Formats: sequence, C-alpha cells, structure tokens
Amino acid sequence: QPGRIEVITGPMFSGKSEELIRRLKRAKIARQRIVCFKPDIDLRYHKTAIASHSAQTHDACVVADVERLREVLFAQIDQVEVIGIDEAQFFDESLLPLSLELMHLGKRVLIAGLDTTFAGEPFRPIPDLMAVADEVVKLSAVCMRCGAPAIHTQRLGGSQELVVVGAAGLYEARCRAHFEPFADSE
Ligand code: ADP
Repeated sequence: QPGRIEVITGPMFSGKSEELIRRLKRAKIARQRIVCFKPDIDLRYHKTAIASHSAQTHDACVVADVERLREVLFAQIDQVEVIGIDEAQFFDESLLPLSLELMHLGKRVLIAGLDTTFAGEPFRPIPDLMAVADEVVKLSAVCMRCGAPAIHTQRLGGSQELVVVGAAGLYEARCRAHFEPFADSE
C-alpha cells in the first residue's frame, strides 16, 4: 500500500515550519512514529530542531545531504511511519527519487521548503516534489511593504549567492508588486 507525499511551500515567513510542526503534532497524537530531518545549512534558530519564526519547535536530525538522510532513515525504517523534512530546498535533486521510494514503502513524507529563490525563480528540488506530490499546500506571507499576501522572498542587500542563510533582517516577505529581485541594496 503506497504512502503519501505532502509538500508545504511558499516564501519565507509564510508559516511552512508552523504547518509542518502542526501536521507532525497531529501524527504524534495518532501515535504514528515520526522522524524529522533538516539540512545542516540551516542552523539559524536551533541546532537539533525544526523551528518556526514564531518559536514553535520539533526535534530534528540534522544531516549534511540526502545520502546521509537516507542512511539515518534506513537504519530505522521499519520503526518509521511519518518522515518530516524542513528547509528541503537546501537538499539536492536526489530528494525526489528518495521521496518516491519512501512513498512506495508506504511512508507519509512531509516536505516543507521554499518554492522560489531570492531571484523569484523555481527553487529545485521543491518544484519537482510539488509535481509528484499527493498534496501541495502553497502558503503566502504578509508583504512587509503593504500587507497584501506575499508570494516572494525579498533579499535585503546585494548578495547574488543562491544560499545566504538568513540572520534576522536579511530577508522580507513581499507581494508581486513590491518584489524587487534585482534591487542592489535596501
Ligand atoms: P516559514 O517556515 O515559512 O519561514 P515560519 O513557520 O517559520 O515560516 O514562521 C511563520 C511566522 O512568522 C508567522 O506565524 C508569524 O508569527 C511570523 N512572521 C514574521 N513576519 C511575517 C510576515 N511578513 N508574514 C507572515 N508571518 C510573519
């Protein structure tokens, strides 16, 4: 019997981690066995937990890459029913076949991550995962300029690196009208 792939996506501050934590809590109430992962690139808020900007947390195993995630997971695969992965945009494209494999093993795979980069472009592997998911939840944040629903992550300051892990003040949620992907600095 196949499992399920659920993707929770949207810009920064849209509540992806909150929604992931909410779903994990419900799975725990249902007495399902859960294991959570996040990439070691994202150690902003908490070293061993998924953490939301609103300070909710859930324990997580920090892994360097998909290969390591796979190792840790398969060492306990028979004891696991639900797999949570936060900040999944920082894992590479091999997360797609792994997610499908887990789904075929009957697991529920919950994946949270950014759908677009600071340049407003699709942020792989999230779009690929969205394509094969059973459920996609696309959340919006609140535009920091006008209060409208925000689908973009605005980087403040001029760095063009794809990954600049954010200290507070480095990123803002913006609506389409106020998103300035090529702004030099703010
Ligand atoms: P994500 O994982 O998508 O970055 P989080 O779940 O970590 O989002 O944080 C969502 C929380 O961030 C909201 O519940 C709210 O408390 C806070 N927040 C701060 N700035 C914003 C914003 N511009 N829009 C929406 N929520 C915001």
